[in-house]
Amino acid sequence: MENEDIYRFVVPTPFSVGNVNMYLIKGDSLTLVDAGVKTEEAWQSFKKQLHELGYEPSDIDQVIVTHHHPDHVGLLDYLPEGVPVIGHEKADRWIRQDPVFFDEHQRFFEQFFLECGVERAFLEEIPNWRRSLRYSCRRSLSGTVKEGDSLPGLTHWKVIETPGHAQSHIVFYRETDGLMLGGDHLLLHISPNPMLEPPFEGEAERPKPLLQYNASLLKMRNYEITRVMTGHGEDVQDVNSLIEKRLAKQRERAEHVLDMLKQEPLTPFQVCQRLFPTAYEQEFMLTMSETIGQLDYLEDVGAVIKQKIQNQYVYEAVEGSH
Ligand SMILES: [Zn+2]
Repeated sequence: MENEDIYRFVVPTPFSVGNVNMYLIKGDSLTLVDAGVKTEEAWQSFKKQLHELGYEPSDIDQVIVTHHHPDHVGLLDYLPEGVPVIGHEKADRWIRQDPVFFDEHQRFFEQFFLECGVERAFLEEIPNWRRSLRYSCRRSLSGTVKEGDSLPGLTHWKVIETPGHAQSHIVFYRETDGLMLGGDHLLLHISPNPMLEPPFEGEAERPKPLLQYNASLLKMRNYEITRVMTGHGEDVQDVNSLIEKRLAKQRERAEHVLDMLKQEPLTPFQVCQRLFPTAYEQEFMLTMSETIGQLDYLEDVGAVIKQKIQNQYVYEAVEGSH
């Protein structure tokens, strides 16, 4: 890591999260970590900040992405075609916008949401989940990394898989001093949404993103992290207390859902409508992801059980659970 510098670029996004951070690792070569959102405004902002360091986009040797969400990959469409793009294998089907995968995605969620108690008429009207993809890219990974790998050309940076916010989510840990490039895994002011995704090839069950996220949070305790440079906002310095805070908040949210289920058994969609009485129509995927996350959590700790009644899941509080 001698002579290695890290620079942060802050670029705008059209999303409610606000700006997104991109990082440049300057060692023997130039590595870009994450690639903003596909808007002209983000591209100009990025280019300007790169110029201030004396570089052009064509100087970048490789791009590594923490996960596949549009605000972290969109500018791949603007970067020179020959630049290698590296990420987790689960990112590829998203950033390629693979039509076969998107058809599977559509079918999976149609069936799943019907089982969650969503009416078919409503399901047809819901805002198209693909709308945010216009800010994404159409580019394939040229290389993949997984748990325990080093970053190409940066052997002191290790890859840690942190599924939860996205199935493709990974973070990078510099073993020499405990610095982490954390994507959206740990953010100072917001808790990342555990987004529902269909199963990956060869997986029979859907992932349970909130349970994965909590496990990925606890996994951070295995590392001596001195600082996290994040995907949005400022650095996180005190990682352990942030993890405590996130897990406590999580228990509190689940408690609220459990109270609801103590009144009467409900389908996931009914829980969602009660939790997000106005937001659920506009932010259907997001609010259902949050709801399913709470239900998966309560089921995991044994506070609720689910039954399938007339092809719909119904969740019920377990007697005496608290
Ligand atoms: Zn993000």
